[in-house]
Parts: sequence; C-alpha cells; structure tokens
Amino acid sequence: MSVPPAPPLALLAELTHRCPLQCPYCSNPLELDRANAEMDTAAWQNVLDQAAAMGILQVHFSGGEPMARGDLADLVRHAARAGLYSNLITSAVLLDERRAAALAEAGLDHVQISFQGTEAGPADVVAGYSGAHEKKLRAARLTRDAGLPLTVNAVMHRGNLDRIEATIAMAADLGAARLEVAHVQYYGWGLKNRAALIPTRAQLEHTTAAVMAARERLKGVMVIDYVVPDYYAARPKACMGGWGRQFVNITPSGRVLPCHAAETIPGLAFESVRDRPLAAIWADSPAFRRFRGTDWMPEPCRSCDRREVDWGGCRCQAFALAGDAAATDPACALSPKHGDVLALAERESAVMAPPAFVYRRMEKIPVLEPGKK
Ligand code: SF4
Ligand code: SF4
Repeated sequence: MSVPPAPPLALLAELTHRCPLQCPYCSNPLELDRANAEMDTAAWQNVLDQAAAMGILQVHFSGGEPMARGDLADLVRHAARAGLYSNLITSAVLLDERRAAALAEAGLDHVQISFQGTEAGPADVVAGYSGAHEKKLRAARLTRDAGLPLTVNAVMHRGNLDRIEATIAMAADLGAARLEVAHVQYYGWGLKNRAALIPTRAQLEHTTAAVMAARERLKGVMVIDYVVPDYYAARPKACMGGWGRQFVNITPSGRVLPCHAAETIPGLAFESVRDRPLAAIWADSPAFRRFRGTDWMPEPCRSCDRREVDWGGCRCQAFALAGDAAATDPACALSPKHGDVLALAERESAVMAPPAFVYRRMEKIPVLEPGKK
C-alpha cells in the first residue's frame, strides 16, 4: 500500500479570474472561468475549513484580482478563525483606504503587490490599464500604514529588465520587507507573448549582478528573491516544490490543480471540491498521482542525483517546449531538447522590434457587494 502524501503547506485560492488589468504574461488560462461559475462565499469558507483540517498552514488569496470579490474580507476573517496565515496577492488597483482597513481588521497577515514597472507610462502600457501604477504606489503605502507587511512582486521581462536598479530602489522606498524579482513564466498568456517578453542573455547577466549587489547593500532591510528565467538556466527549478508535494491550487469554479498552469497539459482530468473533499483529491486524484514523486520519471531524471531536488522541473514547461509533459524539463541542460530551447531564446530575444502584446482578454465586471460572489 502506498504511503499517503503529507498535506500541502499552502493553498492558492484563485477566487476569481476577473481582473481590471490585462497583463500580457498573466498566468491565468487562456480560457477564463466566467463570473457566474465562481464558487460563492459559503463554498470558499468550506474549502478554508477543509484546508485547515488537513493541516495546511497558509492561504494565498489570488486571482485574477481577488479584490474584485466583495466578500474578500469575510473570507480573510474566516481563514484567520480557522488558524490559516493569509496572504493577499493583488494588483492593488482596487485597494483603497477603506478596504485596506477592512482587510487588516479581518486579520489579513500579508500583502503582495505586483508592479509592471517603475514609471507610470510604460508600466500602464504593460498592465493595459491607465493609472494603474499610481494606484499601486498608493496602495503599497496604505498597506504599510495599515501595519501589514508588504512584498513587492516585480514581474520582469525584456521591456523592463534594464530598470532593475530602479525597481529595487522603488521596493525599498515603499518599505517592502521582500522583493520578488520574478521573471515572466512562459505559460498561458506568457507563452502567447513570449517573443515580446523574452530577455537577452546580456540583460539577464546585468540583472543578476544588480540583484547580488543589492542583496549585500540591503541585508537586514529587504530580502530579494531571484530566480533565473528557466530558458537560460542550467538546471530547472523545483516547480511548486514538486508536483503535488507542497502546494494545491483551486480555480474560481473549484477545480483542484497541482499548479496554476496545470490545465495547459492535455489529458489530465482535474476534480472539483464541489464533488469531493479536498483531502481525498489531494491524496489520490489521478491527476495528482500522475507526476507525484519519482516513479513517472524518464531518463536522464530517473538516475539523476537531483531528482528529489528539482523533481524533474516543470511539467507544464515540458509540455510547452517538448510536447510531452512526462519529458525531462527542457530547461535542464541534461535534457536532449535543451539546445533547442537556448537557440529559441537567443533567436527570439535578438529580434530588434519585438511583436506587439496580445493582451489578456478582460471581463469588466464590477466589484460586488459583500456576501455575494
Ligand atoms: S497578471 Fe495582471 S491581468 Fe493577470 S491577474 Fe495579475 S494583475 Fe490581473
Ligand atoms: S536530469 Fe532531471 S532531475 Fe536531473 S537536474 Fe535535469 S531535470 Fe533535474
């Protein structure tokens, strides 16, 4: 009999796919869950109770834009009562004084705000939302005024990597305890826009040097997380800490995924918390079992001494680049496809005039009243 897996550390609760922004690298699927398919307040509260009972420690309220849900503070309060540490992952354009105070009062533990740049003009072009950058700066200050710790999530790509020093200075100036220098991941909308977003190797080297220098300079003031973009890395990252090992993701309509991009892999059927308890899905759903552990691995992963370090890399990336989700992640230099990936990155990033963005298609649906979906 197989040993049941340990519970995940964290739940990523995608409350809605609605969002006022239109980022061309959005990690949401190309096919978005409609507002009328979203789980209601009671269903999400039930999920939070189940998560706490399983031993999950943290909930990340995400989206789309989780603040588009009028019941966000109710869900935060429910998470706090259930003993879950809560983090809000937000674009922050809907975060005003009133809602910052309400979320702090409800027991929110942490806020993570994504930034598209350091200057309003170019940042707003990426966001596809005029005035977004100014609203984000204001919301970051409101977060700190409400006594909440702040992480700045700076999404980096060829269009803004040359502003890495200004990005670090902006995060420090906003009083962020943590800065994530997060390179665009090429799934979903990011894959669609890869040719417009992929950086050159020279940009990457400059960024790495700037981050290392800032880490020294800001020791004890601000932590900087930095991951080299996969296409230029020699070894892949342990995506989500390994498939079905540390994180569980729930879509707005209740489908349970090992990671936010897992639905890009064809042939996997994801169960819903509307039909089955979360703990049962986590323990034995075929989609979770498919790539959990090391039994599924091909060579060279199977006999590699890093197989329980990076867990063979990212399954979604293996599908996107090799056409086979069960292949070694082509970001790994040991993959037979790695040379093709490097050549692709160098070819696409060398194009002098990158293609225009294909923006994430928006549903402009207003914020609803508390208690409603
Ligand atoms: S990446 Fe941009 S468009 Fe996608 S959910 Fe976040 S803020 Fe909205
Ligand atoms: S061969 Fe597989 S396990 Fe080894 S480093 Fe590459 S991706 Fe990781």
